[in-house]
Amino acid sequence: MLRDIEVHSGAEALAALQRALSDLGPSDFIAEVLTNPSLFGRVAVVSSFGAESAVLLHQVAKVAPSTPVIFIDTQFHFDETIAYRDALVSQLALQDVRCYSIDPLSQKRLDPARTLHLTNPDRCCHARKVEVLTRALRDFDGWISGQKRFQSITRAGVERVDWDTERSMWKFNPLADWSADDLETYRVAHGLPHHPLVQLGYASVGCAPCTSPVADDEDGRAGRWRGQQKLECGLHRNPNIIAASVA
Ligand code: SF4
Repeated sequence: MLRDIEVHSGAEALAALQRALSDLGPSDFIAEVLTNPSLFGRVAVVSSFGAESAVLLHQVAKVAPSTPVIFIDTQFHFDETIAYRDALVSQLALQDVRCYSIDPLSQKRLDPARTLHLTNPDRCCHARKVEVLTRALRDFDGWISGQKRFQSITRAGVERVDWDTERSMWKFNPLADWSADDLETYRVAHGLPHHPLVQLGYASVGCAPCTSPVADDEDGRAGRWRGQQKLECGLHRNPNIIAASVA
């Protein structure tokens, strides 16, 4: 399907790919991305094993269970997230899950008391997530994320095919246009477990010190960095998102 598209960077190529892949369901979309190395090179999945991660991971596992899956261990995850990660890896038979963390020297230099999240959460996220992801993706040409437009106003413009300008690589969001109902229907149909904290009101699950439950009428990500202006961790280097995050 994609053989007629010449991919060299630029807005035209990106728009052509967005059109070519727009009608595909997530599984077919993922298959196109993972089986076209001449177009996209080596592609990894990045997962937080959070509240909505199971659906994308299931779709990837169906297509190619040996796809590298990158998990950024911030060393502040809930125990429930680590247990959920291990259970999903086993259930989905994911073959290549790679865990990355801040290197010990940086940790000692930047956050020896593990309190940076209290005084400078942007710096903490940058050191424990953004820099670590950039290192983890060094051997890849693109990454697949689970971002959806419905999740928050900062993600309303997410495209299924994007270009990660920060890392100069492809970024794919197969579920960009899915709704919360779509996710739940798929999860139930395929017997995928909830993250254990979902039942306790956590609609979005990040690091323990920076995540709280949400009320029914709140945005799903309202429990992240509650009480602060910070909206995103910075992993998704979309200029619109960053602008909104620091506004
Ligand atoms: S979410 Fe909180 S603890 Fe986790 S990396 Fe960001 S600031 Fe640090």
